[in-house]
Amino acid sequence: MGKKEVSTLFSSNPDKYYRVSLFDRLGFKRNKCISCGKFFWSLIDKNICPDHETYNFIGDPPTNKRLDYVKTWKEIEKYFQSHNHSIVRRYPVVCRWRDDLYFTIASIVDFQRIMNNKVIFELPSNPLVVPQMCLRFNDVENVGLSGRHYTSFCMIGQTCNADASGGYWKDKCIDLDFGLLTNVLGIKPEEITFVEDIWMGAGAFGYSLEYFVRGLELGNAVFTEFEGDENNYRIMKNKIIDMGAGLERLSWITMGTPTSYDCCFESVIKYLENSIGVQKDENFLSIYFKLVSKKFNSIEDDSSDKINKLKKMIAQEMKIPFEHLDKIVSPYEAIYTIADHTRTLLFAISDGSLPSNVGGGYNLRILLRRVLSIIERFKWNIKIEDLIDTHVEYLKNMFPEIEENKKEVYTILKLESDRYASTRHRMDDIASTIRKNNKQLTVDDLIRLYESDGITPDFLKEVNVITEIPSNFYVKLSELHNINQKSLSSQSIEELEGLPSTKLLYYEDSSLREFYAKIIKIIKEDYIILDQTSFYPRGGGQEPDKGTIGDAKVLEVIKQGDIVIHRVENLSSLSEGLSVKCNIDDTRRNSITKHHTATHILNSSSRTTLGSWVWQNSAFKDVNYGRLDITHHSALNKEEVDKIEKTANEIVMKNLGVNIKEYERGESEQKFSFRIYQGGVVPSNKVRIVNISEFDIEACGGTHVNRTGELGLVKILKSERIQDGVVRLEFVAGQAAINYIKNQDKNISFITQSLGSSKEKLTDSFKKYLDDSEKLRTKIKILLRKTSPILAKFISNNSKQISSEGVKLFTTFDDELDEEFHITVGEKTIDIDPLLIYVSLVSKGEGIRVIVFVGETARKYDFNAGKIAKIISTNLGGSGGGDSKFGQGGGRFKNRIEEVLRLAETYVNETIKR
Ligand SMILES: [Zn+2]
Ligand SMILES: [Zn+2]
Repeated sequence: MGKKEVSTLFSSNPDKYYRVSLFDRLGFKRNKCISCGKFFWSLIDKNICPDHETYNFIGDPPTNKRLDYVKTWKEIEKYFQSHNHSIVRRYPVVCRWRDDLYFTIASIVDFQRIMNNKVIFELPSNPLVVPQMCLRFNDVENVGLSGRHYTSFCMIGQTCNADASGGYWKDKCIDLDFGLLTNVLGIKPEEITFVEDIWMGAGAFGYSLEYFVRGLELGNAVFTEFEGDENNYRIMKNKIIDMGAGLERLSWITMGTPTSYDCCFESVIKYLENSIGVQKDENFLSIYFKLVSKKFNSIEDDSSDKINKLKKMIAQEMKIPFEHLDKIVSPYEAIYTIADHTRTLLFAISDGSLPSNVGGGYNLRILLRRVLSIIERFKWNIKIEDLIDTHVEYLKNMFPEIEENKKEVYTILKLESDRYASTRHRMDDIASTIRKNNKQLTVDDLIRLYESDGITPDFLKEVNVITEIPSNFYVKLSELHNINQKSLSSQSIEELEGLPSTKLLYYEDSSLREFYAKIIKIIKEDYIILDQTSFYPRGGGQEPDKGTIGDAKVLEVIKQGDIVIHRVENLSSLSEGLSVKCNIDDTRRNSITKHHTATHILNSSSRTTLGSWVWQNSAFKDVNYGRLDITHHSALNKEEVDKIEKTANEIVMKNLGVNIKEYERGESEQKFSFRIYQGGVVPSNKVRIVNISEFDIEACGGTHVNRTGELGLVKILKSERIQDGVVRLEFVAGQAAINYIKNQDKNISFITQSLGSSKEKLTDSFKKYLDDSEKLRTKIKILLRKTSPILAKFISNNSKQISSEGVKLFTTFDDELDEEFHITVGEKTIDIDPLLIYVSLVSKGEGIRVIVFVGETARKYDFNAGKIAKIISTNLGGSGGGDSKFGQGGGRFKNRIEEVLRLAETYVNETIKR
């Protein structure tokens, strides 16, 4: 059974699934659309469903109130509060609680957790309403053009567990929604149409009623009644109501503005109009966008020139030239797009995401580059910072938290804009190459250009390389990057079926290093399963414990499901059923534990030092060092690294307590926020919280010290930008830090001794040493200058004459003196002897350098220094070149020196014969 069959199943029994008490009470009748066959309910007789209706509310809203975006929300909030709903604050738009999503795409996602590939619902109160900002990037190219598409929108989520206390089911849900439309917004009942639909999600599905007014879908009430899939399902124990309504649309229906952007971004649009100097022709845009709503879905989706086709059709219908229409409409399309994209960036960056070339960051970078492209195309003078300010001023009435990270948002957008400007030059070059080659670019070409060079199709359109952006570009790009590939690969061991879960002693007593356990099973002669263990298995970036089980050495420890598996070396003395003494390598565990706690401290020190966008990207904790990868936009400078280290050591010196406690998942999320998911999502309903006295709070399954003072010292060894948006810190703590310092000290002692100095005077001595060697170099140079005429004369006298005209060749191999010497001497020699060819091979490290000079007279006989250098270098396995007077090169085959010197002689001889 597919989606269609499920739909037929529900629609074939409308009384059971769709008929709600409201329909009977008010006399709603069920109709079938003559155009598409959908079933729908309305008070007045109709034979087509709302899908085919024009947006007649534009210019003529069917409500008795005019409510802008925030006011609409305030009314909704009041209404649901008075009907005993809890109002829940919005969740972050960056979806930290699900591994399969980067961004929150619907209000119900707030309350979904994935366990064993199954969606479970966890509601913080029942029933509830949440104004959830959602991010979606599959319609990017329609944003600003259709009047209703967004990359971010606020979904009013009315959510309820029907079978828990306070819950209700479909009759009451539709009563409430109908009441919202009629009593709160003042829409007449006969304006409202309910369309039958279904909803199918991961592991659950149900039926739904979508409600429309004058062709505009305002909300969709989903009744999730079944779990399983369509072939094998049962009624859920806790049925879920998930009603989602777009705030942007609810406001629009009351305002009747040309587009929904006009009432949601009013202040931003005004700001843009003022700075650009345009004035809205409300009437014209109303007529235009009403026609857009009518025709938008009728045009083939995959056409790459969709919007222009649409505009041409509308121009014809309005009986005006296309150019005239385009001149009025396109600045507004640009204004709307900018307003949408900057609001999305504001929420995403504010909630901790960064524009980058990876993961969800792709979408953000694309949005900003689109904005910058548009501004450039129209040559507008707009500051993005001012746009963000205007958004914040308005939105803080609804989302007060949006003000908190405003500065951070500026910083990131400024940085990204500068980055864009600096790559513009290169982008222009690439664009002109494409134009020259006259190549027809496919969607795949465009994706490659974006991924490798950051070139957006908007830019290519702007510089006239392409005429239109293929409408599936953004869909394809989203598909490529929205699949979150964090899934773990696990080496699966099969014979575990039926074994009891291992008792984890390391959680009961983290100091336990010696214990007795019973061998439950031995697999494949090197895997041991115990009834209980204190061996910490590899996981969450923490390296496993080592030690012994009986007299067998433990090489590796992993956890599969609830069972800990020990891989050992030589277990011949062990057998199943035996009780054995186990020992854990204490030094190793202590060192790894300290590096783990240090990771948490450094993560928070980095965030307080750098900015709110810093999250742990990944981490690794070993015996000799630890590694923490954080999300950050640029490489770190020395001051930043120093500051992070300083903050971390302050926390160490304060000797703060590290408290570990288990919480219910929902409770921990509400109490500590989603910041706890630094190491990723926890796949269980119990969450182990590691709290370093409120300085750092993370959900973590690792081992930790009791007080930060135990770390002694945290030392950052290295910081490196490892990919776009990710910086790696390598560090040591505890004994490893002491070892590191001891080693440094040893190096210093060696240098001190070599300089014949003392540690106190080391820097002075070293400065003097540098000074002395500089003086020495100068002396050598002078010496060389003074002796080179003598050397030159000597060489000239000792060179082989190779032609009757007097051309001479000097060849030498030198592994004592350097290039500089031979360049000075060579040049001097051809000065005093213009018939000379000077060829010198000099040893340099693992390779050979080649230096060739040809005197002025010799050059007249067709000798060329660059050519000779090239021949020699090529034969030495390298490359070379130069001009007729001076050539140089290098190679690596030291065993061919004799051979190439002979070769040079032969070459010279042959040239002279010619
Ligand atoms: Zn229809
Ligand atoms: Zn941890």
